[in-house]
Amino acid sequence: MYAQLVINIEAPLETTFHYHMPGDLQQKLCIGHLVEVEFGRRLAQGIVVAFDDTAPVAETKPIIALIDPEPVIRSWQVALARWLSDYYLAPLNSCLRLLLPPGLTRWSDTTLEINPVWDGEGRVTKTQEAILAVLEEKGDMRGRQLKQALPKKYRKKWQKAANQLVRRNILLKGTVLEPPRVRPKKIRTAELVARPRDVWNASLNLGRANKQSDVLHYLAQSNDPLPAENDVLENTGAGEDHLTALEEADLIQRSPASTLLVPDASTAQVPEELQEAFEQLPALADSLAPEAVSAMEAGELVQVIEQPATVGLAVPRQEALRHIFELRNGHNYHAILELLRQVAQPLALSDIYAETDGSMYHLRRLEKQGLIRFGSEEVWRDPLADRDFVPTEAPQLTSDQWQVWEQIKEATDEARQEQIAPKPFLLHGVTGSGKTEIYMRAIEAALKRGEQAIVLVPEIALTPQTVRRFAARFPGHVAVMHSRLSDGQRYDTWRRARQGLIDIVVGPRSALFTPFNNLGVIVVDEEHDHSYKQAPPIPAPYYHARETAIEIGRLVRATVILGSATPDLVTYHRAKAGQYQLLELPKRVMGHRMRIEGQAKRLSVDSRYAHSEEDPEDTLSIPLPPVKIVDLRQELRAGNRSVFSRALQEAVDEALERDEQVILFLNRRGSHSFVLCRDCGEVLKCPSCDLPLTYHRANIALICHHCGRQKAQPEHCPQCGSRRIKYFGLGTEELESLVRQRWSDARVVRWDSDTTARHDSHEEILASFVKHEADILVGTQMIAKGLDLPLVTLVGVISADVSLGLPDFQIGERTFQLLTQVAGRAGRGLLGGRVIVQTYKPDHYAIQAAADHDYVTFYLEEIRFRTRHSYPPFRRLAKLLLIDPNNERGRKEAAKLAQALQQHRREKALSATEIVGPVPPFFQRIDGRYRWQILVRAPDPARLLRDFEVPRPWLVDIDPASTL
Ligand code: ADP
Ligand code: ZN
Ligand code: ZN
Repeated sequence: MYAQLVINIEAPLETTFHYHMPGDLQQKLCIGHLVEVEFGRRLAQGIVVAFDDTAPVAETKPIIALIDPEPVIRSWQVALARWLSDYYLAPLNSCLRLLLPPGLTRWSDTTLEINPVWDGEGRVTKTQEAILAVLEEKGDMRGRQLKQALPKKYRKKWQKAANQLVRRNILLKGTVLEPPRVRPKKIRTAELVARPRDVWNASLNLGRANKQSDVLHYLAQSNDPLPAENDVLENTGAGEDHLTALEEADLIQRSPASTLLVPDASTAQVPEELQEAFEQLPALADSLAPEAVSAMEAGELVQVIEQPATVGLAVPRQEALRHIFELRNGHNYHAILELLRQVAQPLALSDIYAETDGSMYHLRRLEKQGLIRFGSEEVWRDPLADRDFVPTEAPQLTSDQWQVWEQIKEATDEARQEQIAPKPFLLHGVTGSGKTEIYMRAIEAALKRGEQAIVLVPEIALTPQTVRRFAARFPGHVAVMHSRLSDGQRYDTWRRARQGLIDIVVGPRSALFTPFNNLGVIVVDEEHDHSYKQAPPIPAPYYHARETAIEIGRLVRATVILGSATPDLVTYHRAKAGQYQLLELPKRVMGHRMRIEGQAKRLSVDSRYAHSEEDPEDTLSIPLPPVKIVDLRQELRAGNRSVFSRALQEAVDEALERDEQVILFLNRRGSHSFVLCRDCGEVLKCPSCDLPLTYHRANIALICHHCGRQKAQPEHCPQCGSRRIKYFGLGTEELESLVRQRWSDARVVRWDSDTTARHDSHEEILASFVKHEADILVGTQMIAKGLDLPLVTLVGVISADVSLGLPDFQIGERTFQLLTQVAGRAGRGLLGGRVIVQTYKPDHYAIQAAADHDYVTFYLEEIRFRTRHSYPPFRRLAKLLLIDPNNERGRKEAAKLAQALQQHRREKALSATEIVGPVPPFFQRIDGRYRWQILVRAPDPARLLRDFEVPRPWLVDIDPASTL
């Protein structure tokens, strides 16, 4: 038997490799196991994807070791990797790597040592001398360690120098696998093992010697509750002063030496005059009259007992113990022991440190005394661990929701019976139409069947809201997965899912690869969002999360629900063609009565939501907001040169007057605030990207939004030296300051990717706006996404057509989606609202349709345009991209490839396949490197490319999100 492995190395590998399994591994190995092997001449990780009776090569190498006793990949994931590789024309090993948690992948590193038989002969360079010196001193080292140990000036060329030494046999080279970056997090714990007696015994060995403590200890352990003072002093070696100190501290009680008189039983007659004294017996001699005492003694009426001075504890024993430790300066020991006694189970050391002032030193001493035992426990790094979620109950569905849900349920049950995958669903409904409730029903049903669910959201910024909502409905079941988590957190979430400890994962793209063993539902919310598509220049595969979700659904027979207010044109087209099942929720916004009424009360406003007859009691709804289009050309003609049209100004005034909130929306941050010389017309551009630099007021600097380069604000035109340099266009910062000028009494906040770069700041800014700590929110498209702003009654779109001029076939669709989503914002408030869209192209169908909330009309117009130009969905695209610092070389390479592709197309007689280009893309120069691209437009571009060797530096992007 042979194991077929995918080798996890950085270099792209299309195929699998066969290895044989040494005896003990034969039994253990399963599909999906991560193993260590030799690949070429170095060590590498491999993943078992199949077993074979034969191997295609005569001699196979053995598998060296199993890295993780549990499989890291499930068999459906192996199939998924093969599909990704085939569909996106990406190397199989990079597709499989996508499914591993970050940090588990280990690259091999070289080890270097001086050849022991080297005689020291031969000339070496300065760098080589330095390398030899380090190795001489430290013995063999890993490549990366060696580089770090070298003086800075030798680091740059160390590798080449070392390789020469290897070739001359002066150095010996080997390989190792780096240790993984993540491993399960173990915490050290301690627990109490001592019995109470052991603690008493040990108390005299901890801390500093102290006589007073010895006395307390003696008293506490003595059988006699009131031992004689002399015995105490003798046995403890303490002195009189120690007792005095203890007495002053109220820890002991001392009784002085005394004479006790007890009546003598043999006494016959008590004389009259002694009668009174005798009756007081037994008594201390001191308390009686001295004459009476001597008389009674003389008459042998009493027995005289001489009592020594005694000492006793004045506090309970447990308290005495504390004082013993304290007196010995060992209160930390006591605090630790006491804490562990109370919890009566192993406790994390960090908790012990937090609860006491103890340190590792104290713990070690306690362990030496045999009082505590150290241990370790695995903990999950869970980013949600410190959040509380208030559970909420599922509302009764509206009749529309019922209809939708019934269809999903029926189709799912049917598919289940026939053991096939249900057809994917496209759920089309405006924001607030109740889609999320449907997702939750589907997930609830899946959980009941013992299945798991994945909920995809397009952006990390949206994760917290979605997580909150799902966690509230399914407390204890939900985990998050996204790239802002630490490697450790992601690794642990991945492992919890592998072990079946969580059921629902919420997150962007990568949440798709959660290794569930019985996945029942995949939700792709906002399925039209293009951030679901990976794009160059990051490493391949450039997969689309929606398409991948559908494939996973097919593989594991899970229900896939795509949801959107503005479905992707291709998705909608497929649904119309019967490939997906189309579900519609009517065009109105809903709310839960309790939430709406609660909000209204909290904000002391009268909500305009109303209850409609056919809905359940708990549902309130409100119609979609009216949208007004303002023609900016007419504004100009009327002499209004401000960025705010008269209609918008009026509307803002009104809203502010009524103490309502306004959102002013600018398409894409800083897109137009470029710098222009009024004398020579020079536009200041990024020297690396050839794109206009944007002016940022906050930094007083010019910033390139493609490579992040910053330049100081110039005083003169670099071209002609003129001082007449002017900022044109509008960025969010500038809009913010214009708003402040025009509405000087209003409180203004800005929300864009500059202000939200910090981890939690988007939540903070929003929270403050929701609390009505600001009146006007100025922002970019980020505010178009799923959030709830109860007091917003006006959304102004400053310019709808910033992007309509860009040369990409999807621009109409993007504009429509954006405007619809923005308009959706205005519609969800308690007070209803309206939208004002400013544009230079009031007749454009995308703008018109968005204003009418009319997806279908937009779809029909757009599909007409797509048919006419053979764009998707009628043809599919593949983008071949070359990035080269040398523009001329790039152009030549591109021309060569285009020619070869044409040739290949003719040979394969693919008449419906077009090869467009090479052309420089719209964003031609990014980060100092030039781009060239070739578009393949065909019913299936992979048919042309699959058996065509695209040269290595070219990147192949199937179904690209943008052709710019
Ligand atoms: P979407 O996902 O389409 O944006 P949601 O599912 O978030 O829509 O619903 C919008 C609001 O309406 C939410 O506050 C939700 O709690 C509420 N809601 C949805 N369905 C119902 C229902 N059947 N009864 C009461 N409230 C509902
Ligand atoms: Zn100039
Ligand atoms: Zn740049």
